[in-house]
Amino acid sequence: MLKTKPLDEKDTELIKQAEAIIEQNYSYGRHHIGAAVRTKTGNVYAAVHVEANVGRITVCSEAMALGKSISEGDHDFETIVAVAHPHPHEDIDHCWVVAPCGMCRELISDYGKDTDVILLHNDALVKCNVLELLPEKYTSDLD
Ligand SMILES: [Zn+2]
Repeated sequence: MLKTKPLDEKDTELIKQAEAIIEQNYSYGRHHIGAAVRTKTGNVYAAVHVEANVGRITVCSEAMALGKSISEGDHDFETIVAVAHPHPHEDIDHCWVVAPCGMCRELISDYGKDTDVILLHNDALVKCNVLELLPEKYTSDLD
């Protein structure tokens, strides 16, 4: 059972910032996912995913947003969200929230175990701690 929390105004704004970054930078086959991360300082860093011809080397938007934040010296994450932008051949006129992939769940929790993730759960947008999404997380620690 996922332990979820309701979104607040700052979370709604975070989703809008993830939408804005991908709306500004959407490019078919290159960029169609945007993410925004809010840090404990209140700053928001938004980024798009970087698609590669060799699919497995594609870099997710969450990783790009974390990297942007860390590169600016902002290391303490509060909440993160990713959204998908529709392709021209899809009959959809809005972005939608997507859950982080397994690798991003690992990455987000490596860099902030108390980070919340916004996702769709039981047809509602909610947030939950990243570790809720990654039971028995990999660790090389002995303890
Ligand atoms: Zn990912």
